This record gives sequence, structure tokens and C-alpha cells, in this order.
Amino acid sequence: MVDYDFSGRTAVVTGGAKGIGLGIGRRLADSGCAVVVWDIDPEPLRTSTAADSFEAVFTVDVTEPASIDQAVQNTLAQVGRIDILVNNAGVSGPTLPSWEYPLADWDRVIAADLTSVFLCCRAVIPVMLEQGGGRIVNVASVAGKEGNANASAYSAAKAGAIALTKSLGKELAQSGIMVNCVAPAMVQTDLLGEMKPEYIAGLRAKIPMGRFGTIEDNAEMVAWLCSDACSFSTGAVFDVTGGRATY
Ligand code: NAD
Repeated sequence: MVDYDFSGRTAVVTGGAKGIGLGIGRRLADSGCAVVVWDIDPEPLRTSTAADSFEAVFTVDVTEPASIDQAVQNTLAQVGRIDILVNNAGVSGPTLPSWEYPLADWDRVIAADLTSVFLCCRAVIPVMLEQGGGRIVNVASVAGKEGNANASAYSAAKAGAIALTKSLGKELAQSGIMVNCVAPAMVQTDLLGEMKPEYIAGLRAKIPMGRFGTIEDNAEMVAWLCSDACSFSTGAVFDVTGGRATY
């Protein structure tokens, strides 16, 4: 593991109570970062020792502007600044053909996987501008590059998160704030709970390295994107797909 030094820096990780977000939060904290978790359901942290790694854990719905504004205030009160924002919270939605996809699920997935990224960036960027810099990493998906069959809302939302990353990267290129996204392939987390087993098997078969991604594979890439070692990349997509992504 590369030994980054995040001491003196603070990070917000959305959806950090479990899965990939928990791994990202721990990776940053292990390198000295003061990490604050925003999650709509922090319960998994309360029943484990994982929360010990974090400065604070706040109950936040990242689809709700008022909840985010309150979280920014609470975070600044707790740790004073926000140097890193990892927009990781997300849901998958059901596995269905587009023409059978319920509008309520479409709206839920777009809100959780795309609008949330816009809202959290909109709330945190002014803080980073005031501080003179920062890092934003959005957790998208290879689904947003490729368009997975029977996951139209998820694929469209993640494609939107990728495009939003590119827009923000250009808007902020001279501000000291770098904005990038990661595009993971499948990782075995609770996110897979809404997916049909045959859909999961089909996506695993697409990975040339022949295995699922791990939480650590993704946390390591995010840590690099948050570190000073990453110095000339913004508005870019970083694949963590075991060879699946070809462009
Ligand atoms: P997970 O279900 O294990 O964790 C998701 C976390 O997000 C949970 O703690 C949940 O409570 C939180 N969350 C959901 N909606 C929220 C909201 N409105 N406000 C605040 N928190 C909310 O899932 P995961 O696999 O760890 O997924 C993390 C990210 O990685 C997601 O954006 C997901 O789309 C992306 N991703 C996952 C995979 C995979 O195969 N697991 C692949 C590609 C991308």
C-alpha cells in the first residue's frame, strides 16, 4: 500500500457506512486524514468498531438539499474545513428492461446516483473555493460508460455523473480544486442485493481478469486521486474494471 500523508486534511465520504465508501473512508483515515461520513443509514457503523476510524458520522440524505446544507455546517463545526469530497453514496435499482422500469424507481436511482453528486458538489465547492483548493472524487461505474442492459436508470445516472465530473473539472481547472471520477466494475457489496443473480453472473463474465473488483482496488485508486501524487488530472475517468473498460 502506498504511504500517502493526509495529516491535516479532512474528507467527507458519502455513503461511508459500508461497502466501497467504508473502504475509502478507512483508507484515507489510515493515512492520517480526518474523515467525516455522511450516510442516510449509519447503523452498520454503530454495530462495528469501524466508526472508530472517523472524526464524525452524520445521518444525511444526499438527495435532500436541506440535509446536505446541515451536514456541511455540522462538518465545518466538527473539523473546520473540507479538503476532500468523495461522492460515493448510491443505489442500484431493479434489474428490468427499460420499458418495464417503474418511474418511481427511475426517479429514485437518478436522485441517489446523479442529483446527489450535483447537490453535494454545489454545497461543498464554495467551501473549497474559500480554502483555495480541494479534491472531489465521484464514484461512477463502468455501467455509465457502457450502458448495462436492464439497468437503464443506473447506467444513465452514472453516465450523468461522468459528464458532470468533466464539466466541473473544466469549470474548476484553475481554482486548485481537481474533480475526477472512478468507474468500478462489479464489487461484492450490499448494492448487489437489488440485482438478479443472472445479471450479476453476466457482468462478472465480462471482466477479463476473471474476478470481481475489491473494495481495496477502488479505495486505492480514490486515495491516489485525493493525494498530491495526482497533480495534473482533472475532469477524468479512472477505470477500476479488471480490463472490462476499453475506452
Ligand atoms: P452499498 O450499498 O454497500 O453502500 C452504499 C451506501 O450508500 C450505503 O451505506 C447507503 O446507506 C448509502 N446511501 C444510499 N443512498 C443514500 C442517500 N440518499 N444519502 C446518503 N447515503 C446513501 O454499495 P457500494 O457497492 O458500496 O456502492 C458505493 C458506490 O459504488 C455507489 O455509488 C455504487 O453505484 C458504486 N459502484 C458499485 C459497484 C458494485 O459493484 N458494488 C460497481 C460500480 C460502482
